[in-house]
Amino acid sequence: MQVGFSPVADDLYREIILDHYRHPRHRGRVDPADAVVEADNPLCGDQIDLSVRFDGDQLAEIAFDGTGCSISQAACSMLCDAVSGRSREQALDVAQRFRAMLVEDGSPNDLGDLEALQGVRAYPVRVKCATLPCNALLQALDPGEDAQ
Ligand code: ZN
Repeated sequence: MQVGFSPVADDLYREIILDHYRHPRHRGRVDPADAVVEADNPLCGDQIDLSVRFDGDQLAEIAFDGTGCSISQAACSMLCDAVSGRSREQALDVAQRFRAMLVEDGSPNDLGDLEALQGVRAYPVRVKCATLPCNALLQALDPGEDAQ
């Protein structure tokens, strides 16, 4: 989908963000979990924990819990949606492309609902809200252990 910054796109994005905020996907806690990552953004007061369970190389289950602003909560919901059931490598790729879109001024690249957050790039304080789950996911995917 080609996207621009027209008012129509803005409205569409707002709708998508609000929908995820009001009806979050993957909310809760994976139990048992292979990794639980707590992350917070003191600038805004967002606080989440992200739990994941792997099945071999597949990210079989992912869930988030916590509190925060609409951007952070919607970003959690969208990101969990985007990586659930994917391989570790694919999940990593999504997280990196999402971060690139927001932090490196990259253009959105096949990110589905997550593309709705591209407008956040214009607000540096909110970027940390949007990247919060992304950072947690990167940590969950690579807990600092050597590859087997
Ligand atoms: Zn926030």
